[in-house]
Amino acid sequence: MIVGFLQDQKIRFFVVRDDPRNSNKWMRAAARLALSPRLAYDPFQHYSLGMTKGTSMPVLVMKFGGTSVASLDRIRRAAKRVGVEVANGFDVIVIVSAMSGKTNELVGLVEETSPMFDAREYDAVVSSGEIVTAGLMALTLQEMDVPARSWQGWQVPLMTTSAHSAARIEEIPTKNINQKFGEGMRVAVVAGFQGISDEGRITTLGRGGSDTTAVAFAAAFGAVRCDIYTDVDGVYTADPRICHKARKLDRIAFEEMLELASLGAKVLQTRSVELAMRYNVRLRVLSSFEGQAANAGTLVCDEEDIMESNIVAGVAHSRDEAKLTLLSVADRPGIAATIFTSLSDAGVNVDMIVQNISEEGRTDMTFSCPTNEVSRAEAALDATSEAGELNFAELVADKDVAKVSVVGIGMRSQSGVAAKMFKVLCNEGINIKVITTSEIKISVLIDRKYMELAVQALHDAFELDKVA
Ligand code: ASP
Ligand code: MG
Repeated sequence: MIVGFLQDQKIRFFVVRDDPRNSNKWMRAAARLALSPRLAYDPFQHYSLGMTKGTSMPVLVMKFGGTSVASLDRIRRAAKRVGVEVANGFDVIVIVSAMSGKTNELVGLVEETSPMFDAREYDAVVSSGEIVTAGLMALTLQEMDVPARSWQGWQVPLMTTSAHSAARIEEIPTKNINQKFGEGMRVAVVAGFQGISDEGRITTLGRGGSDTTAVAFAAAFGAVRCDIYTDVDGVYTADPRICHKARKLDRIAFEEMLELASLGAKVLQTRSVELAMRYNVRLRVLSSFEGQAANAGTLVCDEEDIMESNIVAGVAHSRDEAKLTLLSVADRPGIAATIFTSLSDAGVNVDMIVQNISEEGRTDMTFSCPTNEVSRAEAALDATSEAGELNFAELVADKDVAKVSVVGIGMRSQSGVAAKMFKVLCNEGINIKVITTSEIKISVLIDRKYMELAVQALHDAFELDKVA
């Protein structure tokens, strides 16, 4: 077929050898091409009739998680998908995770060697998993005659803060990779999860960080989309393992995804959703094990791109929560500051906070945090008390609680969602221990043994198995 478009006031034509069913894709690619004369590379040159260079292809980012690259066989399968997108006319940036289980293994080796490890060396070790996958993926693509090469974080260079093991991306220069695209490379395979600090040391972005690498690349390169290939086929209205009526969502708004991600729906790293929202990166979550349908998976997008939606988009849960209560602390200015400074200095991730009514100048302060941070919290508060900065009668920890939340942007304009949620829990005889709300979310702490029941009952009550 022939594709023509206008560029520099000249009409250029390409002859494209392709399946006619793909002609729309070619047209779109050509249109984008005309709009983004990025570099002197003509990807159609093998098929073109006397045309000049000076154009480049639109960029697609594809990220493959650990299970999608768990073996050479799976890497091959992932590489085939990349090959299809190259044939569709994209220059592809592939972001890879470590092969599944690899990062845990490396973390284990570090902890065994040095319990109080130097985080800079932790990063040096755990970043190696992605390096292996990136090289193997580039080799696999080359075997398929797709021009590809691997990039480690420092080669890009992906610049981060020096907060080792939890670094934040500061900059992704596009020059080196674009230059290679210009020279004929079609796929840049980038090791996810890693970067380099100003001091020239290797950093990592925190567990699940490859998602964030992928979104950051999509933003930096102005990619048409960022596809996250994983072992689930999208974002669900609830965890299908505990709620069999859970339904896959075709679309979900950034804000909703952000709440769900931070509530423990482990599909995407929270930071990656924040970035996608900030830079308006169209993010798609899909399975690398299913056939390729044009609109498979779930698109995480701006709420304006969602036509119809339920008031509640999903029910999330988080199993490993604990509730701590400081009994009888002084009710005076500065006390909350003292308590939560002490906890934050100890690295405790506090979630919900409730201060009770005060009597005779004393009050109770309740907060929640992950179960595995309880001993750290207790130690920190005891130390603060011993230092004479805090006085309380007792610290009571309840480690058998779970958090259940309903999330949906529709709540902004609809009242009665909280009332309905509490009613549903009441009908099931479930006692609520703590409640918090945001504009688009209501969360409750309940006894862990009722968690699944609560999720199922709420899913039914808000009819999440039905499309709005
Ligand atoms: N391999 C890293 C981890 O397991 C990063 C990632 O896969 O996103 O956390
Ligand atoms: Mg992940």
